[in-house]
Amino acid sequence: MFWANNLYLARNIFSMGFFLRFPALVVIALIFHADISAQQIERCAVRRYEEFRIASDPEYASRRLAAAQEIENYARNSSSRFNGEVYRIPVVVHIIYNSEEQNISDDQVELQMERLNLDYRRLNSDASQTRQEFMPVAADAGIEFYLADFDPDGNPTTGITRTETSVGSFWLSLTDMKSESTGGVNAWDVNHYLNIWVCNMAIPFINTPLVLGFATPPEGAPNWPANSGAEEPAQDGVVIHYGVFGPTGETTGPLATVNQGRTATHEIGHYLGLRHIWGDGDCTEDDGLTDTPTAAAASQQTCDLSSNSCTDNPDDLPDMIENYMDYSDENCMNMFTGQQVEAMRFVIENFRQDLLLGTGNAFDTGKPEILVYPNPANDQIQVMFKTNHDEVTKLELRDLSGRIVKEDFNNSTLDVSTTDSGVYMIQIWSGTNYFVHKVMIRH
Ligand SMILES: [Zn+2]
Repeated sequence: MFWANNLYLARNIFSMGFFLRFPALVVIALIFHADISAQQIERCAVRRYEEFRIASDPEYASRRLAAAQEIENYARNSSSRFNGEVYRIPVVVHIIYNSEEQNISDDQVELQMERLNLDYRRLNSDASQTRQEFMPVAADAGIEFYLADFDPDGNPTTGITRTETSVGSFWLSLTDMKSESTGGVNAWDVNHYLNIWVCNMAIPFINTPLVLGFATPPEGAPNWPANSGAEEPAQDGVVIHYGVFGPTGETTGPLATVNQGRTATHEIGHYLGLRHIWGDGDCTEDDGLTDTPTAAAASQQTCDLSSNSCTDNPDDLPDMIENYMDYSDENCMNMFTGQQVEAMRFVIENFRQDLLLGTGNAFDTGKPEILVYPNPANDQIQVMFKTNHDEVTKLELRDLSGRIVKEDFNNSTLDVSTTDSGVYMIQIWSGTNYFVHKVMIRH
């Protein structure tokens, strides 16, 4: 078995495509050391993808430096600040499995969604662990995620797809999992859903992943040079190794430092346009944002609070190992900064705005210009016409048999604090027109 795998590796190492995709020296080292350490795991393949681009596009590197200088202006665009309007992003999780272990449970997916919603709303219980000097810049992103209620054809869905594959591991490619023809699953409309592919990326005979996650920034995002987005539009989204999707609580082995489900927090940060806080370079390179101190390198799986790899002006701050866009031990990650929040919201508003059209939760998919949020709701449901700013003249909340359980006039907010938990339809009237959306109330 061992030799068979070595032959398999050797064949691929010496193919050109493989060189472009994986650092050959790391792989050769792995062949002779069956025990992989935490430091050898590539937390995120976004940097490798850029290196591939730099190698194939001579002007990419200079465009990258120029782009980093632009982001600050965009991030300071005051309209992108979180002013109370929560952006809710519909998610579809494609689980691709070759064994029962890889076929992770719905509960694990729910735990991942919870982790994302805590981290992106700064409701994470470890928010209090942010060091004092960084507290003033730590920020609520005002972004939430929900599993889509409706698929692209308008049929009800759990927002989770499950596909058995003959591919044992997708560790040799960053795109095979995104296409049915290569053993993966085709994306749902990438403009209207955040597609997350969850699959095995372990090195076959070591059974530890070389890569934990990967994401594509939107093409044209201000701090990414042109040609940074997905090679094919249908490849836009996030890929996560199944063993780190959702909190695992793993306390031993190489995945013990990535046991909080924050690989997805990090990768979705890239998907929403953020760069690594160390700027993928030495002290002269930066993520373009001034409220993340410069750093010379990633904090590889550590919690080293004394780390201060670069001198900042005017105040020399330590490396922000708390930041989700670093590679710290996930147990020390707990924040985004205000400028990161503005950058992500700017990217949603200008490059991923169709995610907000509500397709994933619209009962009437022909009228996607309505936002109904939050969904699930606890205290109140808000309704907004996204494009034409029509007035809401009446809101009716109906149970699934059509009975009106609550109504309100000339108000775009419906109080549901005393309404029983469950699934309802909300009928939104504007004059003589109405639209219907499915909503969940959860107390
Ligand atoms: Zn990354």
